[in-house]
Amino acid sequence: MYRLIDGKAIADQVKAEIAEEVKQMVAAGKKRPHLAVIIVGHDGGSETYVAHKVKSCEQVGFTSTRLAFEDTITEEELLAEIDKLNADPDVDGFIVQLPLPKHISEQKVIEAIDYRKDVDGFHPINVGRMSIGLPCYVSATPAGIMELLKRYEIPTAGKRCVVIGRSNIVGKPVASLMMQKACPGDATVTVCHSRTKDLKEICLQADIIIAALGRPEFLTADMVKPGAVIVDVGTTRVPDATKKSGFRLCGDVKFDEVAPLCSFITPVPGGVGPMTIVSLLKNTLLAAKGEIY
Ligand code: NAP
Repeated sequence: MYRLIDGKAIADQVKAEIAEEVKQMVAAGKKRPHLAVIIVGHDGGSETYVAHKVKSCEQVGFTSTRLAFEDTITEEELLAEIDKLNADPDVDGFIVQLPLPKHISEQKVIEAIDYRKDVDGFHPINVGRMSIGLPCYVSATPAGIMELLKRYEIPTAGKRCVVIGRSNIVGKPVASLMMQKACPGDATVTVCHSRTKDLKEICLQADIIIAALGRPEFLTADMVKPGAVIVDVGTTRVPDATKKSGFRLCGDVKFDEVAPLCSFITPVPGGVGPMTIVSLLKNTLLAAKGEIY
């Protein structure tokens, strides 16, 4: 019988731990951790994500600031706003919600953020530090996946781990973390992508599969070794007339047929997703404590 990895429950647990730490910081006369979020334009998805981030800050006792700009803001003006936050001693960490309008270079924006305040962990200094195992801000989704493996005490040392997907925000960093000399980590990692040959055979050798490709129900039972651990990162919106919203979130794993084969599996929704914001909160706490310098 497989065990469901309950991301919602773990996220609530981590939030409670953070809230307790904030309480103690405040009781000791320290200031509350402060996260600022920049949002540009009126993209519905981005507005929802930012609202969740602000609400989560409130839940754990952080101060939060939402800075909203119209999508007519120029790149230069946005970079000037980033400089202000870099210099503001009251702001411990900040993020710029992506995507940005086409006339603004996301890479320039990411690199303009002081890496010591880059709680999204996208700055090349943080990415580089992560890859050589130095203290850094790890980006939210990979950090959330590692936290789930840790909290469920899933053995990773010496295991064969297959990561499907090589994006900069999920596939590459999670592969890097899984191969670190650390716990969780110490796995033998194979990264697959759209040009990979014999993907099914590679997956069949895996003790752990992390599916992050954004193709609904891609991973089927014939690709999974009995007893494997499955982490499903995919969240694709598929039309569903039975839902009020008109869609449902679909993972990259054909859950019903894969789950009975597994030892552990994350559901979608309720698996990796809820951990993402928690990772951002954890990074902000690290920033407030001055642990990344
Ligand atoms: P992405 O940037 O689109 O990258 C997808 C990766 O999958 C690429 O490396 C691509 O290969 C590979 N790929 C695509 N089709 C493939 C196939 N048929 N076989 C093998 N590899 C294939 O996506 P992403 O940003 O990493 O996100 C992946 C999924 O995770 C999406 O569903 C996204 O919504 C979800 N996500 C969820 C969370 C969360 O909090 N739960 C957070 C982030 C992302 P190439 O490099 O060769 O193109």
